[in-house]
Amino acid sequence: MRDGIPAPPYRAWRDRAHRRGGVGGELLPVVKAMAPERLYLFDTTLRDGAQTNGVDFTLADKLAIASMLDELGIDYVEGGYPGANPTDTELFAKDRGLHTTFTAFGMTRRPGRSASNDPGLAALLEAKADAICFVAKSWDYHVKVALETTQEENLASIRESVRAAKAKGREVLLDCEHFFDGYKANPKYALACAKAAYDEGARWVVLCDTNGGTLPDEIEKTVREVVKVIPGDHVGIHAHNDTDQAVANSLAAVRAGARQIQGTLNGLGERCGNANLVSIIPTLKLKPEFAERFDIGISEAALKKLARVSHALDERLNRAPNRHAPYVGESAFTTKAGIHASAIMKDPATYEHVVPETIGNRRKVLVSEQAGKSNILAELERVGIKADKDDPRIGRLLEVVKEREAIGYAYESADASFELLARRTLGKVPNYFDVTQFDVNVEQRNNAKGQRVTVTMAVVKVKVGDDNMISAAEGNGPVNALDLALRKDLGKYQKYIAGLKLTDYRVRILNSGTEAVTRVLIESEDEQGERWSTVGVSANIIDASFQALMDSIIFKLVKSGAPA
Ligand SMILES: [Zn+2]
Repeated sequence: MRDGIPAPPYRAWRDRAHRRGGVGGELLPVVKAMAPERLYLFDTTLRDGAQTNGVDFTLADKLAIASMLDELGIDYVEGGYPGANPTDTELFAKDRGLHTTFTAFGMTRRPGRSASNDPGLAALLEAKADAICFVAKSWDYHVKVALETTQEENLASIRESVRAAKAKGREVLLDCEHFFDGYKANPKYALACAKAAYDEGARWVVLCDTNGGTLPDEIEKTVREVVKVIPGDHVGIHAHNDTDQAVANSLAAVRAGARQIQGTLNGLGERCGNANLVSIIPTLKLKPEFAERFDIGISEAALKKLARVSHALDERLNRAPNRHAPYVGESAFTTKAGIHASAIMKDPATYEHVVPETIGNRRKVLVSEQAGKSNILAELERVGIKADKDDPRIGRLLEVVKEREAIGYAYESADASFELLARRTLGKVPNYFDVTQFDVNVEQRNNAKGQRVTVTMAVVKVKVGDDNMISAAEGNGPVNALDLALRKDLGKYQKYIAGLKLTDYRVRILNSGTEAVTRVLIESEDEQGERWSTVGVSANIIDASFQALMDSIIFKLVKSGAPA
């Protein structure tokens, strides 16, 4: 709970942000005393983030996440480790058509080998990438114990690998593994590793806090020493979150002169994760200490998509988004207590450190009936439904939304279901058809060849006007069979749903109160490429799926203006 007196700098910040055109969206003339410095963002969700326990990206996942990062305006997207596994090799086999500097990750040449005689390095050099990020040891102890080689041979490996990648026309980065621990043990050698890459023409030397145990003041002190030897606009920071300070460590490095930050979406990563770009980006964009000094590749318009990007990654990983995530969490701007709520209604600046809409989030005030209504009205406006705030049906809709969210419906992730619920409450959805009965049969038996097979069939009875229709379909599972049967014949409405297809289907088991219920989220797409999401909740997975399927079809009919 936030309490106490609002910090005075807020208003000053807001006024400044308005002047920069960052809050209300109005672009006012900008007067800058000093040209801002460029600060670069490097995302490693697809490489270091893929080390997260339970995360396993497919090629399709990687491509979708890369294009999301690209749209956001991230300067570098590290795709993976070509040659190390089939997914990454395929990812780097052809150009992906992105604006970002798409980066391949891999090791410097192995000790005792020449650069031209190292298959790992060869795969990396052949990868279709704009940049190559090498990882190398910079802690003398690791060189001796893990690499079992000499300090000089490790330096030679760095130099030759950077040279080979430069010769291939790639931009080069060097991740100095365990840099901060290495610097403590042997500052001269750690710096020599960094300097070897820089002198050979590496664009960036990245200082990694690989164990994640370094604290912000140590980071700041060490980076200050490094930038005396290597210019800060060639120095990056790669922080892990083992003391919950990866974001603070990244910002400390920037204060000390580093000009590239590496991190991941939602702080994904091994153990406690990497520096969370979803927290770093708004801090850099909205806090004057950074906003006034630096330019990053993220526009105001892209910043407004940040909450959605963060949630989209969670959906892809089939994880519940962290409600309490700074900036983008559902609760980040939710106020519950009465006095705070009424103060917020008078002036949001009293209890908010930034304007929620700048990062695509929303203010929520719980409890107060009036405030709930304004949430609903804002939602309706967002989906294009005009409503009068004094309309008693708005109060009823609010009640229904509250009741349904309490039992597991998630309307934030299912815009189409919310819109249908709203239109129904406002009496604006025709009754196109009725499903009078459905039947799903799953049977396991031996087929004619004596193989064990599972066969699923669904039968659906639909009434369209005065016509009664029966459709049956076989599917690869009960939900698939039900979907196929339902969409097989809708009589006069069939032409409206012909181009409809399901693009995603996600199931989550929720514990709501006394029993476990299933929430199904379905994403659909039409012939114009427009997408929408629907939700169903029930103790029975087939029933939950049926609700979400029905919402998807009816939403499409409403959207297409199908006659009642
Ligand atoms: Zn790492």
